[in-house]
Amino acid sequence: MGSESVRAPRELTRQVHVGSVAVGGGAPVSVQSMCTTSTSDAEATLAQIDRLAGAGCEIVRVAVPDAGALDGFEEVCARSPLPVVADIHFDHRLAIEACRRGAAALRVNPGNIGDWARVDAVIDEAGAAGIPIRIGVNAGSLDRAFAEREDLTQVEKLVGSATSFVGHFRARGFDDVVLSAKAHGVPTTIEVNRALSRELPDVPLHVGVTEAGGARQGTVKNAVAVGCLLMEGIGDTMRLSLTADPVEEVNVAWDLLSAVGLRRLRPELVSCPTCGRCQWDLMGVAAEVERRLADVRAPISVAVMGCVVNGPGEAADADIGLAGGRGRAVLFAGGERLRTVDEADAVDELMAEIGRRFG
Ligand code: SF4
Repeated sequence: MGSESVRAPRELTRQVHVGSVAVGGGAPVSVQSMCTTSTSDAEATLAQIDRLAGAGCEIVRVAVPDAGALDGFEEVCARSPLPVVADIHFDHRLAIEACRRGAAALRVNPGNIGDWARVDAVIDEAGAAGIPIRIGVNAGSLDRAFAEREDLTQVEKLVGSATSFVGHFRARGFDDVVLSAKAHGVPTTIEVNRALSRELPDVPLHVGVTEAGGARQGTVKNAVAVGCLLMEGIGDTMRLSLTADPVEEVNVAWDLLSAVGLRRLRPELVSCPTCGRCQWDLMGVAAEVERRLADVRAPISVAVMGCVVNGPGEAADADIGLAGGRGRAVLFAGGERLRTVDEADAVDELMAEIGRRFG
């Protein structure tokens, strides 16, 4: 993933900071998620944030739906190990108060706040607090000037609204923006973000498919849309919405970053689909290896292959691997055979070798 054509758009964006996390300007694409707990329940929210942080989440967003959530929000901000973004809809006073209570950033949809004077009050308070604002746009929060236009496509409405909102923030003297224009369809998500990257090349983009569905469908939709954009150098931070435990969003985000070759947090498992040559319980072994690799933080590739004849060759570029035979397995690393081990000891031997080489 080293070519300039892949990286150029992302490197052109202005860098902003969400707490200690840099977004844009060539910073690593950061992983976000959103708490599903009630923000009023600070303990439950902090417990979920700890789980998210453990999975590799770097920025966390929490809802601030009403004034009753503000005390919990303040407590969460004070104790969270991750920078906390306040998610505000409609009531600009909550956004202003969140700035004063420790938000590392705001997420607002100007189209939901409505009145520009109210949006300006939020902009000014964020400016005073020195925190960035993520400007959100979706089908339900378009700029009124675009929403009713029957001559425009949905993509044009989203891009036009987003461009107009960014222009307003800048005219107000506020440049620390991150932009997200979200849709639940893959082609629309890709088209909108390509257009924004062209029209606003210096604005960092928060990418993801919204309302993507459950774990399986949502993973596929996000992988296609966000994967495509990341491969084109588009996207500075990401949240992959899933109707699932938010920790799963973080796991999928890291798998996606690893798959496109941008960032790797954990080992990547390389395992063959098996065929008639397989003579050991590859599926069981692969599941066991995957389970035991969950605690390993080394960014390595680990192969688990179905046969000793083709396996080591097919996975020669893996950092380390196992290829099974009848009762025995070959342990290999860097394309070289290390030794033959009993099948019963194979996973233990693999994990011990990973510990020695990469621990
Ligand atoms: S590694 Fe062996 S068992 Fe696995 S798919 Fe290739 S030939 Fe078949």
